[in-house]
Amino acid sequence: VSFPPLAIGCEACGATEQQLRPIPVATHGTIHSLAEVHLQHGKSSEPFVVAEIRLDDGPLIRALMARDEHHARIGDTVSAVWAVTQIQDGDEVVEPAFTTTPTVTDARNGVTT
Ligand SMILES: [Zn+2]
Repeated sequence: VSFPPLAIGCEACGATEQQLRPIPVATHGTIHSLAEVHLQHGKSSEPFVVAEIRLDDGPLIRALMARDEHHARIGDTVSAVWAVTQIQDGDEVVEPAFTTTPTVTDARNGVTT
């Protein structure tokens, strides 16, 4: 599984682009690493958090954390929400951003959701 999709085929096994197919991937994952950004293109900006997230389906992706997620830590479980990340030429740019999700454990059967 590759995210974002590879237009050149699979770098791991050599499959061509035609042999690959799109599949839905989990919007849940675990924070692998993160950094709080205070300078962007040499200018100070409102701090935001960039994280590497290991999705439950396997891929390690780089994504923004939601704006209020300044206390996220490595190992936290997260899920994606749609968020306005910037305004470009008056239009809102909407991208997935990740938010920490409390792990809910059902005490009766031990299933974690
Ligand atoms: Zn492959």
